Amino acid sequence: MIEDRLKAELAEIACTGLTRRRRVLETPCGRMATVDGKNVLNFASNDYLGLAGNTNIAQALAEGALKWGAGSGASHLVSGHLGAHEQLEKEIAEFTGFPRALTFSTGYLANLAVTPTLAGRGDAVFADKLNHASLIDAMQLAKANGAEVQRYPHNDVAALEKMLAASTAAQKIIVTDAVFSMDGDLAPLPLIFALAERYDAWLVIDDAHGFGILGPHGKGSLGHFNLPASPRILLMGTLGKAAGVGGAFVAGSATAIEYLLQKGRSYIFTTAQPPAIACALTKSLQLIRNGDALRANLMARIGQLRDGLAGLPLKLLPSMTAIQPLIVGDNDATVALSKALWDQGLWVPAIRPPTVPKGTARLRISVSAAHTDADINQLITALKELT
Ligand SMILES: *Cc1c(COP(=O)(O)O)cnc(C)c1O
Repeated sequence: MIEDRLKAELAEIACTGLTRRRRVLETPCGRMATVDGKNVLNFASNDYLGLAGNTNIAQALAEGALKWGAGSGASHLVSGHLGAHEQLEKEIAEFTGFPRALTFSTGYLANLAVTPTLAGRGDAVFADKLNHASLIDAMQLAKANGAEVQRYPHNDVAALEKMLAASTAAQKIIVTDAVFSMDGDLAPLPLIFALAERYDAWLVIDDAHGFGILGPHGKGSLGHFNLPASPRILLMGTLGKAAGVGGAFVAGSATAIEYLLQKGRSYIFTTAQPPAIACALTKSLQLIRNGDALRANLMARIGQLRDGLAGLPLKLLPSMTAIQPLIVGDNDATVALSKALWDQGLWVPAIRPPTVPKGTARLRISVSAAHTDADINQLITALKELT
């Protein structure tokens, strides 16, 4: 039978207890979720500012759909680039401080458009070992295009410098997450940027978890570190996390962005996102820009959680962001702890290898500005009881 091999592999996944399943939410993304009629506090989403369920954004989406229709009808370079998209691009460029930006339907596609488009034969890519899966796939594509790829140990600037110093590549491209998605820690961007300057390299930054959260007005990790909108930086940000909608952008110099527009296959060969999404994002950007109160609440909840979990026997990784990983180590113990929390009405996902290194299975606690003081206390109390 044609399916036999797949069945065998699926059985193997089941055997090792790694079968993944989806939970169906009966409510919009928010502070609480209803699953199979059960109400749980949601510590699983990336909706860090609580904007996914924001009614003003939903209103902008509905009005955008009535004005611009449901679909864009084509890719950006054919006839799918509507006024709503153009407006969003301009606003993102202005907000991030770069001369120009392009928007994408997803962050995955945005990452595929950057590194493999810049890097070809004779070029070299230098990537952090803990980069997001979409950056890893981008790296594989760059390799297929003939580029050499080297991975440096997580945040190891000395190792990165050695690789750069030894490289004779025509173009060098450094690729890093700004905030690492399973650890919540920051890349040392000022040091990495200094290396990019010293070795004349491009610096590709994935700010999926910093955009909207860090820096003045939520401008992101570059703002947090007070780094300039340098022409050697390509800044990617996703719009389905803190921004609460969906999609992504890449911002950079006018030349670099024009180059991606002309040559980025995952920009060119895909239908432009529905224009109403761009309208919703324009509203979301406004809320982010004026969102100091949301960010203050988020930071207060993060501090509260860290203080509350300080005495726990489990290790809370050092993270100042909304991603708060609690290391359990053993896969089964992590799943059991996640299940026990679920039974108490607390949704905290267990993250296991291969998503994280072996022996570092963890609970990935996502804090949101939508959480209350009481929500965080409930989680702290439950974790103290269970560990
Ligand atoms: C979520 C994420 C992406 C992918 O973005 P999508 O819009 O969900 O496709 C890329 N990079 C990082 C670091 C992410 O966390």
